Amino acid sequence: MDTTNLCDVADSRRTRRTATPHPSGSDARKSGSTGDRDTGARQGRGIGIPGYRDTGIPVVHHPAYEFDIGPHVFPTRKYRLIRTRLLQEDTIHESDIVMPESASDEQVALVHTADYVRKIKEGDLSVPEQMILEVPFSPGLRDGMWLCTGGSILTARLALESGICAHLGGGFHHAFPDHGEGFCLINDVAIAIRTLLSEGVIERAAVVDCDVHHGNGTAAVFSDDPAVYTFSMHQERNYPAWKPPSDLDIGLDDGVGDEEYISILQRHAAEIASNHRPELVFYLAGADPYCHDQLGGLDLTIDGLKRRDRVVMETFQSADVPLAVTLAGGYAIRPDDTVEIHCNTIREAARLVHGE
Ligand SMILES: [Zn+2]
Repeated sequence: MDTTNLCDVADSRRTRRTATPHPSGSDARKSGSTGDRDTGARQGRGIGIPGYRDTGIPVVHHPAYEFDIGPHVFPTRKYRLIRTRLLQEDTIHESDIVMPESASDEQVALVHTADYVRKIKEGDLSVPEQMILEVPFSPGLRDGMWLCTGGSILTARLALESGICAHLGGGFHHAFPDHGEGFCLINDVAIAIRTLLSEGVIERAAVVDCDVHHGNGTAAVFSDDPAVYTFSMHQERNYPAWKPPSDLDIGLDDGVGDEEYISILQRHAAEIASNHRPELVFYLAGADPYCHDQLGGLDLTIDGLKRRDRVVMETFQSADVPLAVTLAGGYAIRPDDTVEIHCNTIREAARLVHGE
């Protein structure tokens, strides 16, 4: 293991902000660059992790992602079940799995306010803060989220190195700089992007959020950051009530199904790849646009969601853009459906890697 910090139309509503200079004028303009990113993305150069077998898709996971939050619609056990299924069917192998270290407080502070980080570390969240979080706060939750954020940072690094990497976790897009909500304590994807920007590893990134819920926290974090393009395709009449504008928001009508969804996504994914030329894309492959999801109101089938994944992956692969995949939400009436939808995401990634 490397000792470095490895680690979610009819009335389509589009909103675009006016790009303004990054407040610090620094992150987006660091002189450092991946340099040979273009060659790394398609040719799958070796990953510098001892024991890693460079024949499949790198997968990031840690058993501690499964923590006890009591009876809850959010099934933290899904991460373990996905890993087990993928191993049993030979889609991935133990040697493909890399375990992350926790994110540092400094990395978390690249997105979250000092006061919010202090409250979390000291277990000092108020009752109202815990209520909007909608999951019971505990040291286990905190540690799990710090670890998961380390996982998304690692996923981004490995994506840059191998072209694509899948995180069996992550996608906590409802966390704002100064508070958490909707099951999301801290915003792992935003922290990972800010980490790589601050290191000068990348200069531009994009977030393609296909969870059924709008990526409110992520949109807020990057609202004035021209280095990061945010795209959210979600059910308009669903949580969150207040949707701060992403660079592009596609708010879908209730009940949108496979064909309409795929058609809209194809168009916008291609535009993001060609018009914005991100050096890294974070894909939030939420399982909750599924027709039988308890918290969603779209009508996608399991096969449609698999096609969705394929559209995103093929679009950015053909554009030579590294893709960091996170799972985000998933609350199907039958938990096994959530696991299957997430497994399909990894299967599509593996298919892509193997050129099938
Ligand atoms: Zn969701």
